[in-house]
Amino acid sequence: MNMYDIICKKRDGNALSKEEINFFIAGYTEGTIPDYQVSALLMAIYFNKLNREETYILTTAMRDSGDVIDLSDIKGIKVDKHSTGGVGDKTTLIVAPLAAACGVPIAKMSGRGLGFTGGTVDKMESIPGLKTSLEKSEFINLVNSRGISLVGQTSQIAPADKRIYALRDVTATVENLSLITSSIMSKKLASGSDAIVLDVKCGNGAFMENFNDACELGQLMVDIGNDDGKQTIAVITDMSQPLGKAVGNSLEVIEAIETLKGNGPPDITGLSLVLAGIMIYAGGKAGSMEEGRDLAEKALTGGGALEKFRAFVAGQGGNAKVIDDYSVFQPADFSKDVICEEEGFVSEIDTRTVGFASRNSGAGRTTKDDTIDMAAGITLYKKVGDSVAAGEALATVQGSVALKVRGAADELKKAFRMSAEPPETPELIKKIIL
Ligand code: URA
Repeated sequence: MNMYDIICKKRDGNALSKEEINFFIAGYTEGTIPDYQVSALLMAIYFNKLNREETYILTTAMRDSGDVIDLSDIKGIKVDKHSTGGVGDKTTLIVAPLAAACGVPIAKMSGRGLGFTGGTVDKMESIPGLKTSLEKSEFINLVNSRGISLVGQTSQIAPADKRIYALRDVTATVENLSLITSSIMSKKLASGSDAIVLDVKCGNGAFMENFNDACELGQLMVDIGNDDGKQTIAVITDMSQPLGKAVGNSLEVIEAIETLKGNGPPDITGLSLVLAGIMIYAGGKAGSMEEGRDLAEKALTGGGALEKFRAFVAGQGGNAKVIDDYSVFQPADFSKDVICEEEGFVSEIDTRTVGFASRNSGAGRTTKDDTIDMAAGITLYKKVGDSVAAGEALATVQGSVALKVRGAADELKKAFRMSAEPPETPELIKKIIL
């Protein structure tokens, strides 16, 4: 078998066999197949697609390229949650303690920021002292004793995805349903949970801008997860504007804590309760998703979820005082408001521009070796549908480097579009795929 023949076969629109897909993944992971041949194959896949069987084989080959975690030492149904990536999406920090407070063991591995999107691990690291890398035994002990542990994904989880993703990023082959599915699901299937809840983002701040594409992606991921014996549920949700009001690491953790205290913005609170409800249902602690949502709401109003968050922070060595005193977070030295010049309604927010402005304020990386400024980011005062007076602030950018803050504020200004009449506000939860 050789790579040249495999590339020709896909270029000519034929389906690849299990042996051919396994050969390509094993060879690329070991370094015996060069980047230029994999780039050519990825482009052939981009144009000629993979069918469902090929996608399943690719996903499991990528899953098996590294460690497959065994979580059988943790009692109960372990439920994982994954977002396809968005701006201001801090729901894991809210949903995980909500589900844990309702008895679902949370043993979750998360990722770092990518492009214009943020990552849960970067956000968690804004809490002074909090460890995001634990020995497996410590991780399991924390889940068994406290019901929750959230850590970073190790480099041994689906290493084939790490190499392929880096190549897709520079060869314009990211936006393919089978390649996105195999990338996300290989990591989820390797992480050891019994069930998976997927938050598939749709809109101008997501990889899938269009509703039908997002549904197709959600359905494919659900099929692949179920094919592998894990109950998988996808929720298609709006990402046509940032979620909540905070974008950036410590700002998002503060908003997550405020939400757990019952003071969160309606979109973040609403979405978190729905996602937690589905996790509670998939974890066997509720008879339906609606009952799961009600249980999650009780854990929110009764304070149980906030206490789970405290137990999580303290268990991983973090300074739990942050929960009651936000001055424990690294402060920002500089800030700049973005002022609205004309009166009217916010009709649209270009979410990618908000994500890039946050990254450029210091909250994300422009190269993989960049250090994140934990205090940097954006606070939005206005969302789609809100009325604004001339001279009113739309948002504030903050950070530790004045030049970056100023540049990001100029960029952010371009993200807002105004109209004279109130626009339709987007629906947050668009569809649930079982
Ligand atoms: N997130 C991933 O992990 N992979 C993709 O391909 C897209 C989003």
